Amino acid sequence: MSESVKYVLDESRIPKTWYNLAADLPAPLPPVLHPGTKQPIGPQDLAPLFPMSLIMQEVSTEREIEIPGPVRDIYRQWRPSPLYRARRLEKALDTPAKIYYKYEGVSPAGSHKPNTAVAQAYYNKEAGIQRITTETGAGQWGSSLAFAGALFGIEIKVYMVRVSFNQKPYRRALMESYGATCVASPSMETQSGRAILAQREDHPGSLGIAISEAVEVAAQDPGANYALGSVLNHVLLHQTIIGLEAMEQLELAGDYPDVVVGCTGGGSNFAGIAFPFIGAGLRGGPKPRIVAVEPAACPSLTRGQYAYDFGDTAHLTPLTKMHTLGSTFTPPGFHAGGLRYHGMAPMVSHLKELGLLEAVAYHQLGCFEAGLQFARAEGILPAPEANHAVKGAIEEALKAKRDGTSPVILFNLCGHGHFDMQAYIDYFGGKLVDQDYDEAELAMALSGLPSVHV
Ligand SMILES: *Cc1c(COP(=O)(O)O)cnc(C)c1O
Repeated sequence: MSESVKYVLDESRIPKTWYNLAADLPAPLPPVLHPGTKQPIGPQDLAPLFPMSLIMQEVSTEREIEIPGPVRDIYRQWRPSPLYRARRLEKALDTPAKIYYKYEGVSPAGSHKPNTAVAQAYYNKEAGIQRITTETGAGQWGSSLAFAGALFGIEIKVYMVRVSFNQKPYRRALMESYGATCVASPSMETQSGRAILAQREDHPGSLGIAISEAVEVAAQDPGANYALGSVLNHVLLHQTIIGLEAMEQLELAGDYPDVVVGCTGGGSNFAGIAFPFIGAGLRGGPKPRIVAVEPAACPSLTRGQYAYDFGDTAHLTPLTKMHTLGSTFTPPGFHAGGLRYHGMAPMVSHLKELGLLEAVAYHQLGCFEAGLQFARAEGILPAPEANHAVKGAIEEALKAKRDGTSPVILFNLCGHGHFDMQAYIDYFGGKLVDQDYDEAELAMALSGLPSVHV
């Protein structure tokens, strides 16, 4: 048996195309609806916010979509990202399972998010856009788009969820280092922000509110577009480079996964690792189990309703069918800021309805414990979001030990935790607790779901 722990590909092996799962879906996605008329929208309806190239990717059913040369050139800095075999973790768990992880923390911003940030900045630049507005939770997306904006000479304005703005000053500093502007959301700069602050002066913010602010500003400025770091089909598409590379690397290792695990906030890093394997299964290849891991405090896939909902709190975005906790739902302030979104990518939700994936939810203390066990074996300290994927993979490995099976487990280590040390400090200080969402708040948010007859 080879003792390799690291599977690297030459940069000439960076995929030339992204993989579009829409080409292989057994049933098409439900249509996206206009927030006013509640009728299906067309590409032109999205034109005030996105360049047409990205809108066409959003609705494409072509299987392979070319990665532009300039985007691949930038990817070369950190791609192909390494795939590791977690041999020391396997030993620590005394499991017969093989555990592989794809490590996306090698990007300049420290997560998978630059995979789409660079592509989105490129297409916006091509369309002559000078400014992009966006939201960010933990700051991973904001700093990734700030990095991409710096490369293409685009001004970036980031609305950062207030609780994270206060908890994570270093992410904000990173955005500013790349030349972006970052404000706490809700802010007094927008109508949506002012409306929320009028109700509650100390509102901690949410991704839904920050999206409203960013969309409002972009819609009113012809030189500006809006960018989203997750959820949308084109974002998931750009992330498939993760799974495509992992497939080639596992081939080097002589393995194919029995289980693929990823954490889900809006669904993009999970889609990135999982979609190429789901697609291969739909085209007649092996069908690994696909496991989405979400936080118990914001459990859209396991506790949300599959319904049409808005992507934001002020109801400026189109309606998509997805697993949602309701667009006014504000999750408790747990530390995995990137997993606090009320909804889920429509494509990931659709797969859950089709029975093509399983979803589990874990509380944060167990996830931190898993992340530290991983760090002590493998040396990489995961981001709090990534700890959920680590927890999912460890649970699979322990189950294999109990069952006497030896599956190949692949998970996505979507980012490092170097900017999240306050969360670890709080964990060591016993200040983190397992927070549950408020049932009454969830019921209220769900009762506010828009009524739609399609
Ligand atoms: C943003 C982020 C997430 C959550 O977003 P997804 O779209 O679900 O991937 C998870 N992990 C890390 C490290 C992130 O930066």
